[in-house]
Amino acid sequence: MSDFPTANSETATTYHGSCECGSVQFTAQGPLRNVNTCHCTQCRKSSGHFGAFIRIETEKLDVKPSDDLTWFSSTDRAKKAFCKQCGSSLFWVLEGRDNWSVMAGAFDDDIPVTLEAHLFTSEKPTYYTLKDGLPQAEHFDIQTSQQPD
Ligand SMILES: [Zn+2]
Ligand SMILES: [Zn+2]
Repeated sequence: MSDFPTANSETATTYHGSCECGSVQFTAQGPLRNVNTCHCTQCRKSSGHFGAFIRIETEKLDVKPSDDLTWFSSTDRAKKAFCKQCGSSLFWVLEGRDNWSVMAGAFDDDIPVTLEAHLFTSEKPTYYTLKDGLPQAEHFDIQTSQQPD
């Protein structure tokens, strides 16, 4: 323990999140990437409208063990996690990636991020329109500045 601030103390900010009933709790180390939305069929069904998530390296994510955290294989390569008590969508993970996508709405703290892009607009239903001027991708790939690897 030291009273001296470190050079990157700002990046050490921790943000808290949870499901609606509070059974599943997690923290994420900042700085956070911006939010991508996903309009694919799976995200629409699991969220009830469309998905909004932040990609976070697993090493920066701490999910407290909970028997209520349940995984569902959404596709051959994608798994989604939700709370089996309250049904909150929480995470999705693509096989082979060292990061999880965390649902932006699951954060309890006011996270200092913004919407960045819309993904999978090819599967967007017609009942809503995207008029915010943000970049759109018909599928997953989009040229954005927020995905350093
Ligand atoms: Zn819950
Ligand atoms: Zn999706």
